[in-house]
Amino acid sequence: MKDFIDPFGRSITYLRISLTDRCNLRCVYCMPKEGLQWQPRAEQLSVDEILRVVETASRWGVKRVRLTGGEPLVHPHIVEIAHRIADIPSIEEVSLTTNAMLLERLAQPLADSGLKRVNISLDTLDREKFIRITRGGDIDRVWRGIAAAERAHLAPIKLNTVIVRGLNDDELPTLARLTIKNDWHIRFIELMPIGNSQDWGDGFPTPSERYVSTQEMHAQLSAFDMQPAQTVIGNGPSRTFRIPGASGTVGFISPLGEHFCETCNRLRLTADGKLRPCLDNSNEISLREAVRSGQSLDDYYRQAVLSKPQHHKMLAYMPACSQRSMSQIGG
Ligand code: SAM
Ligand code: SF4
Repeated sequence: MKDFIDPFGRSITYLRISLTDRCNLRCVYCMPKEGLQWQPRAEQLSVDEILRVVETASRWGVKRVRLTGGEPLVHPHIVEIAHRIADIPSIEEVSLTTNAMLLERLAQPLADSGLKRVNISLDTLDREKFIRITRGGDIDRVWRGIAAAERAHLAPIKLNTVIVRGLNDDELPTLARLTIKNDWHIRFIELMPIGNSQDWGDGFPTPSERYVSTQEMHAQLSAFDMQPAQTVIGNGPSRTFRIPGASGTVGFISPLGEHFCETCNRLRLTADGKLRPCLDNSNEISLREAVRSGQSLDDYYRQAVLSKPQHHKMLAYMPACSQRSMSQIGG
């Protein structure tokens, strides 16, 4: 089917699915230390129900699907889900965003299932800091996960790095240098007012200190004399650069500093069966009852696309945070 255009002229071709709100880490900016109240499993979509939503979206022009969460690799049927979505003829690409704690074991089965690429979240190269940011994660498992993803040709590997002042902004050059020898694509992301705005605890920056704009990040990397590079496949709203002679690239994702809404081509599906037209806007269209009663989902899908707002409004309420965390929305 041809693309479905929203009221602001944007083709909606990309669906991000939060498969679960559960996670095996507790990153400080995403969740409180004790975690969140998990949604009851009965309220979450089953594998068949997720597939019906994706089939509907594919008939309305969605061609790329990203599996996320929470942590998508803790979903017990992750390989089957990837496989069944990849099998839908009009879906051109299935990819995944993960913290990589379980990637070493799952990279090859996922590649065999038809998954094309992974984005791996990594905010620091320092083992102790990694434990503090993720509240208990093991960075060696991330490195083993990346190696397994490379062996399984889940390429190009992208690294997602949220930059927080006073926490990891001093590592910008070291992180950027990773792209010199490795064909990796690191993307520095502005901290968004979504998730945990509370006091993160001793030694962590306070809410008003944390935000670093991508302009400032770029300026901190000026010594590299980075040149604009071709956007890497699936790089979405990232602006991409290359250190001269480097194998990989350095990207900047600026949801706050620059409006990336003009080219927003996505819808989100939450684990509890709601279509979310905008990451920030709390408007959600629930299709769980419809999918469970066997109704057509077309009208729900159309309504979601037609209600996409022109812009998010995150700047208006910073540093306070939205009600749902990124893990529930599917960041
Ligand atoms: N658990 C997986 C992971 O961490 O990659 C997938 C879900 S996580 C919610 C997706 C991405 O959202 C991660 O790269 C994470 O760093 C990012 N994220 C979470 N909260 C954020 C926030 N407040 N601002 C910016 N990015 C955030
Ligand atoms: Fe879990 Fe990802 Fe949120 Fe970290 S950012 S707590 S890994 S969902």
